[in-house]
Amino acid sequence: MKTKKLVMIPGPTPVVRSIQDQMGRETVAFGDPDFVKDYKDLLTDMKEMWGTSGEVFVIAGTGTMAMEMAIANTLKAGDNLLIVSQGFFGDRFIDLCKRKGINVDIIGSEWGTIVPVADIEAKLKEKNYKAVTATHVDTATGVAAPIKEIGEVISKFEDTLFIVDGVCATAAEPEYVDEMKIDVLLTGTQKAFGVAPGLAIVWAGPRALERRKALGTIPEYYIDFEKWLPIMQDPSKYFATPAINLIWALKESVRLIKEEGLENRYKRHEKNARAMQAALEGLGFNLLAQKECRAVTLSNVLYMEGIDDVEFRKVLAEEGIVVAGGLGAYAGKMFRLGHMGNIDIHDMVSVIATIERALYRSGKDVELGKGVGILMKELLKQGKSE
Ligand SMILES: *Cc1c(COP(=O)(O)O)cnc(C)c1O
Repeated sequence: MKTKKLVMIPGPTPVVRSIQDQMGRETVAFGDPDFVKDYKDLLTDMKEMWGTSGEVFVIAGTGTMAMEMAIANTLKAGDNLLIVSQGFFGDRFIDLCKRKGINVDIIGSEWGTIVPVADIEAKLKEKNYKAVTATHVDTATGVAAPIKEIGEVISKFEDTLFIVDGVCATAAEPEYVDEMKIDVLLTGTQKAFGVAPGLAIVWAGPRALERRKALGTIPEYYIDFEKWLPIMQDPSKYFATPAINLIWALKESVRLIKEEGLENRYKRHEKNARAMQAALEGLGFNLLAQKECRAVTLSNVLYMEGIDDVEFRKVLAEEGIVVAGGLGAYAGKMFRLGHMGNIDIHDMVSVIATIERALYRSGKDVELGKGVGILMKELLKQGKSE
């Protein structure tokens, strides 16, 4: 018999039955009054739950498109942008922005560490930046940036907008748009929301919407805020066909989040991540991200001596979990384990047990059950598992 394969990569994440069911529904007209109401209710929830006095855009596309949407609506050719990068996805803004003729300065960190907030402040004093981008969790490194602190610093600079890539963070790492002084927060559905890939989500605060207006006509068409604003305010209107089934799926994800409580969801992610990370370390692995800045959404796990990346991930898949390989200089040297979204205690225990079996099959002297024991002790120590 074939073992079930849990998809534990940093997106797409496992999609629970009730969300799958929404994708399997019979598609209706985009003007269908029931669908229009569902879309409208979803947008209202998204704005309230993430606390913005601006707008939210939910349209077909991926996280990368959401990155482009954030940039296209706030910056024009010749503007200065400061890119705070903690890895591969932070760097993605470089090419994206250079193609638009934006002048980019990059402030990066060694993989596994964060860019000190004081360095960002010093940089902002050097010249007039129209915006700063920061990646909340860089999926390549498993590092979480101190978004609240960065927002505080940027808010001292009147002309500078704060753009946050939340693709591997939103719905798992605490994010409050207005309160954290975020002007644009962007994400996709396939990571901590636990929905299939296909929707881009962009929150734009009042300052970002003002900036968009001041830009006049922009070169981009499909991702123009001005094209979508009338639809987000009244989803019975048409600009481009909404991804009806995915919108239903996201609505179900948001319903589940409301049922759990957004705060509780943040706490669950923190608890699960710390337990998983302790268990991985107990098995002898080192993690790429330094302890003080570890993400709750994934772990970037460095191989110990004598483990072959391709072979190890093959064995893991045979034993029942799919993980992702390392990126950049860490290709072949680590694996990336997602633990975000709608995963439960069964998934968690199963994952660590699978990793133990793979270590055993790789000829490592592993004490079977050690990781499972640490994981469960950590979860119980921190209170009832959820
Ligand atoms: C996955 C990811 C992206 C890219 O999203 P796609 O949906 O693959 O386009 C961007 N930023 C971060 C931080 C990510 O983790």
